[in-house]
Amino acid sequence: MADSVNSSVNPFLAPSTLPYQLPPFADIRDEHYREAFDHGIAEQLAEIALIVSNPDEPTFENTLLPLERSGTTLQRVAAVFFNKSSSDSNDFTNALEEELAPLLAAHEDAIRLDPGLYSRIASVHEQREEPGRDAESLYLVERYHTEFTLAGAGLSDADKATLRDYNKRLSTLTTRFEKNLLADTNELAVLVDDVADLDGLAAGEISAAAEAAKERGLDGYLIGLVLPTSHPYLASLTSREVRERLLSASAARGIRGGAHDNRDLVLEISRLRAERARLLGFDSHAAFVTADETAKTPDAVAGMLGRLAPAAARNARVEQAELQKIIDASGAGFELAAWDWAFYTEKVRQATYDVDTSAMRPYFELERVLQDGVFHAATRLYGVTFAPRPDLVAWHPDARVFEVSNEDGSPVGLYIGDFYTRDSKRGGAWMNPLISQSALLETPTVVCNNMNVAKPAAGEPTLLSFDEVNTLFHEFGHALHGLFAQVTYPKFSGTNVYRDFVEFPSQVNEMWMLQPEVLANYARHHETGEPMPQELVDRIHASATFNEGFSTSEYLAAALLDQAWHRIGADTVVTDVAEFEASALAAVGLDNPLVPTRYASTYFAHTFSGGYDAGYYSYIWSEVLDADTVEWFTENGGLTRENGDRFRDRLLGVGGRMDPLEAYRDFRGRDAIIQPLLDRRGLN
Ligand SMILES: [Zn+2]
Repeated sequence: MADSVNSSVNPFLAPSTLPYQLPPFADIRDEHYREAFDHGIAEQLAEIALIVSNPDEPTFENTLLPLERSGTTLQRVAAVFFNKSSSDSNDFTNALEEELAPLLAAHEDAIRLDPGLYSRIASVHEQREEPGRDAESLYLVERYHTEFTLAGAGLSDADKATLRDYNKRLSTLTTRFEKNLLADTNELAVLVDDVADLDGLAAGEISAAAEAAKERGLDGYLIGLVLPTSHPYLASLTSREVRERLLSASAARGIRGGAHDNRDLVLEISRLRAERARLLGFDSHAAFVTADETAKTPDAVAGMLGRLAPAAARNARVEQAELQKIIDASGAGFELAAWDWAFYTEKVRQATYDVDTSAMRPYFELERVLQDGVFHAATRLYGVTFAPRPDLVAWHPDARVFEVSNEDGSPVGLYIGDFYTRDSKRGGAWMNPLISQSALLETPTVVCNNMNVAKPAAGEPTLLSFDEVNTLFHEFGHALHGLFAQVTYPKFSGTNVYRDFVEFPSQVNEMWMLQPEVLANYARHHETGEPMPQELVDRIHASATFNEGFSTSEYLAAALLDQAWHRIGADTVVTDVAEFEASALAAVGLDNPLVPTRYASTYFAHTFSGGYDAGYYSYIWSEVLDADTVEWFTENGGLTRENGDRFRDRLLGVGGRMDPLEAYRDFRGRDAIIQPLLDRRGLN
C-alpha cells in the first residue's frame, strides 16, 4: 500500500462521519479518486492474500467472513465515483473511467481467479451442511461457489490468462461504447430555428428547449435525445418534418462513421463475449449469463419471448390500420411512417378514450408527485416518512437529500433524488446505492434515484409527463428495495439479486401511481389545486391496454435482439450490424418498419455497455411476478399497512439472501402464473 496516502486528507480512506455515512461530497476533489482506487485495490488484495495464506483449515469464519469484509475502501470510492461519472460527468471523469475500467476488471479477476481462494471456497462448500449454520450463511457459501466457478476459477492457468485478457478488453470496449453514445446523443440533439416548428409542445417544453440551446451557445431551440428510439415529443409535435428529424437523429446514434461510431464495438464486444463463453464451457454468452439467473437457459427465455411475440406483432398491425384510418379520414393522404405513430396514437387515444396525455401534465407537478404521491404511497404501505435534509450536501445542487424513518421513528436511511437532465448525465433513469445495508459491516443505507426531466425556466413549475410519473414510481421501487434491506452479508444487500428478478419490486411500485387514493392525493392542478377530474382518471384506466401492441413489440424486439447478439457461437462471424439486426428481427416476426426496436444495437446501452447483456429479457420476465403481485395486492385490499409489511418482510427486505423464487412463494403462497401479464398487455 502506498504510504504517501494521507487519510486525513483523502476522504475515501475512512468511513464518513456524516449522518448515515453519507459521502462528504463537499470535501471530495478530483485528485482523491485515483489515489483512493489504487489504495483500495491494494488493500483488498492484501486482505485476500491474508485469507489465502492462513495455515488453518478453511472454514466459513476464516474464509467467507473476511472475504465479505474485504474491499471497503474500494467500495466506498467506487460507489461515489461511478455515481458521479453517470450523473455529472466531465472530461476528468471520462478519462479516469476509461483508465479504471481495465484496472478494475483485472482486480476482479485477481480475486475470482485466485486458485488458493477458490480451493478454500470449494472446501468450505464441501462442508457447508455443518450443523448450526443459518440459512443466509449457507446460501452465501452456495453463491460464492457458483459465482467463482462460473467466473472461471476452475480453469487452467493458461485459460485463466486468456480469460483475463477477454475481461480487460471487454471492459475497455464497453466503456468506450458508453462514451461514444453520450457524445453522439449530445451531438445529434435536434436544433429548430423557428418556434412555429415546435407547434404542439407545451410552453414549458418550448422554454426548456430554448434554455438548452442557450446553454450550448446556440440560437433557436434544442431538443435533446432520450435513450430509446422513440422520443416523448413525437406524440405532440405537429410538424411531420421535425418528427422525422427527431426519430432519424435517435436512430442515427452510433452509425454515422467517425469517432463515435459504435458498429465495430458491437461486433467486437459480441464476438469476445462468445469466445469467453466458450472458454468457460458454454455454447454462447446467453447460455453463460442465464445459467446464473432465475431463467437458467436461453431456451427458457426464447420460449417466453416467443410465446408473446406473435400476439404483440398482430396487435401492433391492428393498431397500425387504425392509425392509417385516421390519416385517411383527415384527407392528409400519406402513408403512416414510424415518426407518425405516436402522434396519431395520441389522436386515437383522444378520439376513442378522450384521454389527452398533455392535458394531464398540469396535474403532475414534480414536487407534489414526489411528496404526495411516491412518498405518500410508501407511508401508507410501510409506515415510513421522509424528511428533507437540506443541511446534507449531495454531488450536485439539483440532487436533494431526504431522511427516511420508520413509523416508530427508527432510522431507515437516506434517499437522494436527482431528477433533472443535463448534458453531463447519461440518458435514462436509474437507482444506485451509495452505502448498502449490512449487519456484518454495520452499515446504514443511502440510495439515489436519477431521472432526465427537462428543467423548466426559472420560476416555472416542473410538470411531468404521464411516463415520467410512472418512471419515478418505478425507480422509487428500486430505492425501497435498497432502503428496506435486512441482511447480514453485504453481498445480499437490497438490489443485489438476480438480474432477471431485480425489476420486479420496482415494477410493482408502479401500481400505486394510478391507485385512486394515491392519485387523489397528488394529482392536483399546479395552479388551481383542483384534483384531476375523475372521468379523466376513468378514461386512463379504460385505455390501459391501448397501444400495447406497439409497446410490447418494440420492447420484445430489443429483448430478442439482445438475445440474438449473445446466442451466436464463438465460430460465427458477423460483419454487418444492420444486416444482423434485420434478420434477427425478421426471424421472430418483429420486423415491422413502423415499429422500430426500442433500442437499436449501436445505442443499446443496456446490452453493450453492460449490465443487461443477454439480460434485457429480464423486464418482461420479472413482469410475470409483478402482474401476479398486483393481483395479490388488489385481492387483499390494496394500500394497507398489513399488505405493505408482508411485502417488505418477505420480499423487499430479503434482498439476495435466499433463492428469489422461494421468497416469492413465501410471499404469494404459491408460484407466479403468467395469466395476469397476458391480461394486462392484451395478449390473450
Ligand atoms: Zn428498473
